[in-house]
Amino acid sequence: MSGHDSQSVLSIRLGSSLCYFLPTKTGAVLIDAGNAGRVDHLSSVLLAHEHELQRISLIILTHTHHDHVGSLAELKLRTGAKVMVHAAEAEYLIQGHTPLPHGTSPWTHLVVQTGKVIGFGKYEAVQPDILVTEDMELHDYGVAGRILTTPGHTMGSISVIVGKKAFVGDTLFGINKDTVFPPFVTNAEDLIQSWNRLLDTDCLTFYPGHGKAIDRWRFEHSFEKLRGQRYRKSQ
Ligand SMILES: [Zn+2]
Ligand SMILES: [Zn+2]
Repeated sequence: MSGHDSQSVLSIRLGSSLCYFLPTKTGAVLIDAGNAGRVDHLSSVLLAHEHELQRISLIILTHTHHDHVGSLAELKLRTGAKVMVHAAEAEYLIQGHTPLPHGTSPWTHLVVQTGKVIGFGKYEAVQPDILVTEDMELHDYGVAGRILTTPGHTMGSISVIVGKKAFVGDTLFGINKDTVFPPFVTNAEDLIQSWNRLLDTDCLTFYPGHGKAIDRWRFEHSFEKLRGQRYRKSQ
């Protein structure tokens, strides 16, 4: 899947996840780097939209699961782009392995257990350049936007806020029609705090790492439903 939107952000599927390409005045930012072996595909999609891979000067990682960093090493090599990641996951990136969080359902729990056995979660190691430790502006990198720390799916999950758009990685999932809750979470309490933080912005559209863009109404609706379930559980 790929497509244009009003501010010429491209969403491009790289294997099982999406990356987002944002042209800037001086270059371009890529949010996430998909599964391994997808750089030629990315390059050809960009060319079809009259952009060049070499324009990418910054790669922001929403987190370091293998399906978001698989093509990172090759991309960094071919573009010389700087890599931005939350400090909590820098060590994973350097080692080329990010442990998977617990599943939130019996089925995803099984996926995690199977993954541990077959070495799921491994990828080509990358040295990060910019470590995020708290919310920060991106003006210095030519982007009229900011980073919001949104832990929960992983401890180092971050979101990128540009205007009224939020690029949220796996903090929200756009695949299930009943909920935007991700199938894997490291810390559900943190995740809920992060959802609050995202809804505190004036963003109207939330772009996930998997599935379709989520409008604010749908996100709020999922949140209300989740709060209702938690309230009933605590009774
Ligand atoms: Zn993930
Ligand atoms: Zn993912």
